[in-house]
Amino acid sequence: MTIQKQPLPTIPDGAERIEVLPDMSLKVPQNPVILYIEGDGIGPDIWAAARPVFDVAVEKAFAGARKVHWVEVLAGEKAQRQVGSWLPEETLEALREYVVGIKGPLTTPVAGGYRSLNVTLRQRLDLYACIRPVKHILGVPSPVKHPERLDITIFRENTEDVYAGIEWACGTQSAEKLIRFLREHMGVHIRKDSGLGIKPISKTATQRLVRRAIRFALDEGCPSVTLVHKGNIMKYTEGAFRDWGYELARDEFSDTTMTESELADGPGGNLPEGKVLINDRIADAMFQQVLLRPREYSVIALPNLNGDYLSDACAAQVGGLGLAPGANLGDRVALFEATHGTAPKYAGQDKVNPGSLILSGAMMFRYLGWAEAAELIEAALAQTIQARTVTYDLHRQMRRARLVKCSEFGTEIVKHIQGKAS
Ligand code: NAP
Repeated sequence: MTIQKQPLPTIPDGAERIEVLPDMSLKVPQNPVILYIEGDGIGPDIWAAARPVFDVAVEKAFAGARKVHWVEVLAGEKAQRQVGSWLPEETLEALREYVVGIKGPLTTPVAGGYRSLNVTLRQRLDLYACIRPVKHILGVPSPVKHPERLDITIFRENTEDVYAGIEWACGTQSAEKLIRFLREHMGVHIRKDSGLGIKPISKTATQRLVRRAIRFALDEGCPSVTLVHKGNIMKYTEGAFRDWGYELARDEFSDTTMTESELADGPGGNLPEGKVLINDRIADAMFQQVLLRPREYSVIALPNLNGDYLSDACAAQVGGLGLAPGANLGDRVALFEATHGTAPKYAGQDKVNPGSLILSGAMMFRYLGWAEAAELIEAALAQTIQARTVTYDLHRQMRRARLVKCSEFGTEIVKHIQGKAS
């Protein structure tokens, strides 16, 4: 198929662009353009359910004075079908230009093209911080006794680690060349029948992530930032992540942070008001900690791969992926997303839970400074679940609940926002 150019979206009448000011803050007009990527698989189902929720929440929160102008950009199967490219350059250009977007999940094509569109989007737009708040919503069934004890925000590095996709298949010339190089020049012996991957972890990427996590903790009044790593084994990557994190806290936030040993040496062992505790935990132990001592953690910063695992495990602890929101943030561009995948077996059935995308939209409104709309969405979603009106994923775990379709779940949330729920 020939690749056709996807036209850059034009600004609809009456809409304005969100601007990033020199101090990196946002100037958000009353009627901003926000880009959306529908996504593959269940993406169109959850987007169709979520969009009316967003519009009604903004309308109600600001009495009609503000309105989002949604503009679609293409990625994934729809882009491949319409313009012959999985991720058209125009989509990346539009995201750089319009600064804020929201996306559904994207299939990773099995052959050819990009290895992962999500990884490519994060790398090309330098969306270096993947932020996932994990908090239980009252009424959501959970596999643990006290899901409400986990209330954390995960800051996962988004551009590096073995996750960056720098790898060579077993038996290729490149893999053989690298194995030879390592043997001849570094004295490292690797079996010839190996595939190889590289795990880069840089001071730059670590410190900009940890900086963002500490700023978040200070802004939101969170008591601690925990650096999670596997530095006991991978000393120069994961161990360096920990060391550079502590260094950054010492160099840039010495007035507002303290370490566990400083806390233990201080009077009373209590964290002084306004200070954030910086500590670290080994990744495998952390999987136990979030289950056994969830109340001790607040903000967690960690490298890419462990961040992927830990955020799904934590999401499961409070009720599953269907309700887990996420954001990918850079210094300029922000892309909010449902954290689950395309769940292809449910595609087009109007069945799945749109909660993850809806809560990602609430995160997006907070990012824009439209907290009133975010609060309406979060409250209405909780009320809908507490009224025991749920999609199949929660229904199968609840007694006496009413099973609704994906779109109906969205409609129920809209009714709660409007105060019209029965
Ligand atoms: P998945 O799409 O997340 O689905 C795994 C299971 O999670 C589903 O079968 C379903 O479980 C549950 N689930 C996911 N979304 C749900 C929702 N909205 N409501 C209720 N339940 C939900 O994971 P996958 O099957 O491993 O991946 C499928 C494709 O998605 C792959 O191509 C992968 O690369 C892609 N992916 C994309 C992203 C992204 O775009 N950010 C993230 C992850 C994966 P039950 O069957 O038990 O009901």
